[in-house]
Amino acid sequence: MTLALHGIGIDGSRPVAIGDAFLLSREPSLAPAKIPAEKVPEELKRLDAALDCARRHLEDVRTQIPHSTPKHIAEFIDAHLLMMTDSALVDATRELIREQSVNAIWALQSQRDTLVEIFDRMEDAYLRTRRDDIDHVVRQIQVFLSTETEAEALTEADVAGRVIVAEDLTPADTILLRHRGVAAFVVEHGGPMSHTAILARSLDIPAVMGVHRATERLREGELLVVDAETGTVLAELDTAILEHYRARLATFDAHRRELRRLVREPSASHDGTPVVLLANLELPEDVAAARDNGAAGVGLYRTEFLYMNRSSLPDEEEHLQTYLGLIEGLDGIPLTIRTLDLGADKQIPDTSFHPARSNPALGLRAIRLCLQEPALFLPQLRAIVRASAAGPVRLMIPMISCMAEVNAVLGLINEARRQMRRDGLKFDPLMPVGGMIEVPAAALMAGALARRLDFLSIGTNDLIQYTLAIDRVDDTVSYLYDPLHPAVIRLIKHVIDAAASTRTRVSMCGEMAGDPRYTPLLLGLGLRELSMHPGSLLEVKDRLRRCDIGALSRTIAALIDNIDEMPAQALLEQLEASSQH
Ligand code: PEP
Ligand code: MG
Repeated sequence: MTLALHGIGIDGSRPVAIGDAFLLSREPSLAPAKIPAEKVPEELKRLDAALDCARRHLEDVRTQIPHSTPKHIAEFIDAHLLMMTDSALVDATRELIREQSVNAIWALQSQRDTLVEIFDRMEDAYLRTRRDDIDHVVRQIQVFLSTETEAEALTEADVAGRVIVAEDLTPADTILLRHRGVAAFVVEHGGPMSHTAILARSLDIPAVMGVHRATERLREGELLVVDAETGTVLAELDTAILEHYRARLATFDAHRRELRRLVREPSASHDGTPVVLLANLELPEDVAAARDNGAAGVGLYRTEFLYMNRSSLPDEEEHLQTYLGLIEGLDGIPLTIRTLDLGADKQIPDTSFHPARSNPALGLRAIRLCLQEPALFLPQLRAIVRASAAGPVRLMIPMISCMAEVNAVLGLINEARRQMRRDGLKFDPLMPVGGMIEVPAAALMAGALARRLDFLSIGTNDLIQYTLAIDRVDDTVSYLYDPLHPAVIRLIKHVIDAAASTRTRVSMCGEMAGDPRYTPLLLGLGLRELSMHPGSLLEVKDRLRRCDIGALSRTIAALIDNIDEMPAQALLEQLEASSQH
């Protein structure tokens, strides 16, 4: 009998996939212990780099201990810092790598076992407890080592045509798996607006998230059907089910081919109002898909993916070369570069920049982190300013929550320009600087922000998360994540109206913008610029070309005062009925 597991389907990508299960393990044993002898010097360097990161992380934690905390807590951290330089741990691990040609994670683990054995034999109960400290220290260092080891293992795995089944899949993993022919993702945790889900959508890979115990219940190599529309994963399939899903895939592919005819058609409503359709990019190579689907520009380039799956930070030159490559690929259409939005579910190995906190989505993330860490921010900021000399570039600030953040960024841009003038470097003094409206506070003060900035872009993924107090990564509350909640619609309308009254450009770049079910609503609310995954452009264009914007605006004007009482479905139906073509 067929086994059906349920989760949250990530629709917007291909609706269905059929493929063998590939169970993704999180164990460090993924990587073989033995390494070729010529790789030993590189492995020693990796160990040193990981030790360095772990030490910096602990030093950072130490500076953040409140004064009221008992003294022995700081002393524990000092003890851990000392262990990280102790020859019994560090030199012995180096020795193992050198003598046995093994990787650093394995050597560290082996030396840990030796030390723990010694501690276990000690008579003194206090000293015996110090074995826990060794465990903590070793784990800290392994965290910094494992990111790259896992990345390597993932890069080498043969995943073409297979369904990745994982307990958890980070955005960094998803990036590594892109373009490797993965058929689908089945993940035990994560909500539909997590960055892993967003990446799956942009890669056009069907995904079902929040499939509890999937890695226990599905077997390596068995044939699966992943239905991203209904959020179902099927195993132990019979021929009738397989035939049904093969037919659905064929229908979907025919529909996609049919949409291709729209690429060169004007991007305007049925009653002739032009609407700008832009692409969201995660990685530079997405430019081809943006062009291929007729994007009028890039409305959101998420630069944080430049920082993932590596142990060093990109410098100004690397940023600049990446942006210049994009500008060239876009051939004259605008590029909106969003400054770094690290934090929450987008992490990088160097946690000294964003020590783990209990509420990462409300913590040091995006522009907050950048303003506190000039070493992270300034190379990027300077590179964007320099890139503006080469083509139409816009700079966009994520997660603004107060005017002080805007003023601080504008101050830094001015300072960068002053230095560039002095150094004879070129830039466009009129490069537009805009901000994302993702926090309810920013939405409510959109008028003031619009007067200070050149454009606004509504980031509904976060705006919904923060307005409704729903963690976008947590599948247990994803049923409450509602783009049509009256409070969300009111905030969106407020931002659009505020921008209109100051004649400021406003767009939307959250997932809502790329979902054709919401196109009539967004047009009726007054949006004329939408940014989405390249794969959604033609679907939205098709919907747009069948909309009568005049009628939609009138319907919204008539309904808006009563939307608090109105079921979301009724609202969509009324809009649909008022604009049938
Ligand atoms: C958003 O929040 O809507 C957005 C576009 O940014 P991200 O999804 O990267 O947080
Ligand atoms: Mg966001």
